[in-house]
Amino acid sequence: MNTAQSVRLLKEQHPERYCSDPRCLWMVRSRTGDVTPCRKHPEREGEILARGLALDNLSLVRQHAPELATGLDAVVNAVRVRSYRTGLAALDLVSAYFSNQERPFTDDESIASRHLKAAREQIARLSGGSK
Ligand SMILES: [Zn+2]
Repeated sequence: MNTAQSVRLLKEQHPERYCSDPRCLWMVRSRTGDVTPCRKHPEREGEILARGLALDNLSLVRQHAPELATGLDAVVNAVRVRSYRTGLAALDLVSAYFSNQERPFTDDESIASRHLKAAREQIARLSGGSK
């Protein structure tokens, strides 16, 4: 496998770390969170960072509420390809799990719901203005 092929494979696994142009292999967000926007395919200011934060929050929700994994996958997939409105709709389906809860939250559930709320704010901000 040559370098371009192995980078392409990494981009498939972690599209949020790479330029959103389908053919571009520029890494916009390093493993440590450093952001270097692609000069050929610029995104709105702060978009890469906000997307990364939203995805970080979603993965924390998953850790604390693994039963929501299927619903979270739909949110993550939409956010990764920058379909923020779709992501928001999918996220609202997941949040229904918490808002319909009648008993008090367990510790994990309250952590998960906090991260879900943070992710929602970031995705809502991202969805304002673009598709
Ligand atoms: Zn690019």
